[in-house]
Amino acid sequence: MTQTPQVKPTIDRFRLGVFDITCILDSKTVRGGLTPSHGGEAHAEAVRALARANRVDPERYEHPFTPILLDTGRERVLFDTGNGALGKDFPQLGPRPEGRLPELLRQAGCPPEKIDVVVITHGHMDHIGGLFRGGERVFSNARYVFGAAEFDFWRRGENVREARRVNREIFMQVAAPLAERATFANPGDEIVPGVRAIDASGHSPGMLAFLIESEGKRLLNWSDTCGHFAISIQRPDLSLDVDDDKEKAAATRARILEMAAREEFFVAGYHMPFPGVGYIDRTANGYRWVPHSYQLNP
Ligand SMILES: [Zn+2]
Repeated sequence: MTQTPQVKPTIDRFRLGVFDITCILDSKTVRGGLTPSHGGEAHAEAVRALARANRVDPERYEHPFTPILLDTGRERVLFDTGNGALGKDFPQLGPRPEGRLPELLRQAGCPPEKIDVVVITHGHMDHIGGLFRGGERVFSNARYVFGAAEFDFWRRGENVREARRVNREIFMQVAAPLAERATFANPGDEIVPGVRAIDASGHSPGMLAFLIESEGKRLLNWSDTCGHFAISIQRPDLSLDVDDDKEKAAATRARILEMAAREEFFVAGYHMPFPGVGYIDRTANGYRWVPHSYQLNP
């Protein structure tokens, strides 16, 4: 029996003040289940119950990868680069989805060579995987921005946990060679006019979030602060297997969720359901994700 091919949007553009923001679905993967990835074995039942309460199958963990293109009118700034060809170039990783970012950027009217700045929120491979293809830089005319602490951590290679050893190898091959074309940001730094770095460390040692602001409209790109739109936001205390420093990641989640709710930010999350944009609402005992509907449409 032939199956009807899936048809889903992979490009979504909206307006933020005078900025254009385009969310691009580079790829997605479906993991076995939400548990034990979230909360470990100890919280397996609670995670399953929470998934069911949110009408998602606890045994199906859909995980999208969503780079964001910001056009400020002066510069085109890309946040993160998706999976690229990691599955081919590093077969030891096992099957990985092939990144579609370059072709989707072309469809969106901004081919990779037109990108002026590539910002890497952190060094995990689903964020740096699209930097090179066939040994060539994909964003051939871009300069790069890395978090200073993050870059330093991966380059030094000390205290890299076992599960991240291959990630470190990949970092050294595709991110480290870009150092001479890069600047290194710290929390509080303005990386281009209207974009400021915020400390989001924990998920990785120097992860940065970015607050994008134009004419009073504010979008917080929180990268991987939360890994799942229901579990991580309703139970920010639960650690994720992919969090490098689990305690710090949970504290950062709590801090950033509180800030997003208090400041009424729009939020863009790399692993939130496409296009990955929404609000954070306070609830009786935590928070919930409210997807963007039409607030930012022109
Ligand atoms: Zn990620």
